[in-house]
Amino acid sequence: MSILIVGSTALDSIKTPQAENPRLLGGSASHAAVAASFFSPVQLVGVVGDDFPRRYLALYRRHLIDLEGLQVVPGKTFHWSGEYEANMNHRRTLLTELGVFETFSPTLPARHRDSQFVLLANIAPSLQHHVLGQVRRPKFVAADTMDLWLNIALPDLLKLLKRLDLFVLNDSEAHQLTKEDNAFTALKKIHKLGPKYVIIKKGSHGSILSGPQGFFLCPAYPLHKVVDPTGAGDSFLGGVMGFLAAAKGPIDANFRRAIVYGSVVASFCCEGFGLTRTTRTTRAQIDQRVKELEELSRF
Ligand code: AMP
Repeated sequence: MSILIVGSTALDSIKTPQAENPRLLGGSASHAAVAASFFSPVQLVGVVGDDFPRRYLALYRRHLIDLEGLQVVPGKTFHWSGEYEANMNHRRTLLTELGVFETFSPTLPARHRDSQFVLLANIAPSLQHHVLGQVRRPKFVAADTMDLWLNIALPDLLKLLKRLDLFVLNDSEAHQLTKEDNAFTALKKIHKLGPKYVIIKKGSHGSILSGPQGFFLCPAYPLHKVVDPTGAGDSFLGGVMGFLAAAKGPIDANFRRAIVYGSVVASFCCEGFGLTRTTRTTRAQIDQRVKELEELSRF
């Protein structure tokens, strides 16, 4: 089953203590789409300007990502820039230039309106709403967000939460939303806002799923060296949704394995700048790391 993904399609300029890489292929939807493409066909909805390198379009195509919903319009592509400290958990946003995203209001191609799996990757909640509103009868809808939207678009986000099956956020965002320090109490409060499934991500400490079958604690794959964690959260959710869309049987029966797959795809993302490592990954390498994680966490 294919999966519809909307979010930012960006050029990312990323600085770490070791290196600086300007204008990489980035954006929440790009990371999520490549991650999901290891498991299911992907339909990407986004917008880029006429400065968007053709080789990046080719890269999406190499992952068999359907680009009918990706508009190329006159103007500048969304440009984001961030700088990491020696401790890669600390990042500073240097620049966010919305460019062509400022006026983006997509009309979904007819083929996309019957999508059953919908991933609303990080972007303004009003845009997430706008896209979801055009899908006829989605079977499973997931969304991600960021601190910015909790600060400036909370009413829109709260409206969106009522329409979601799965909401994913990191631990600091969960605290911001619920004012709770305890992740398990925060999860309870977030369910009350709408979603049946909630995942709190804790970076290199893994993630917690809460759903009808209770909690699941998913480990992160142990990496000795993180090159650039940008997009790890998007890759995680892309992997989870791609796996769920491809799996047979009920969602509940597949969810735990889906999260482990998401966690593994995110680990590849962290091993290179932007999408450079993820796009060189194979399904066999992903399966191998899943096996290793299984060994590491069995008792
Ligand atoms: P993450 O590391 O999970 O926070 O995701 C980083 C990705 O989010 C980068 O590729 C950015 O292009 C994208 N991004 C940064 N700021 C925004 C924003 N305000 N809206 C949408 N996407 C963003």
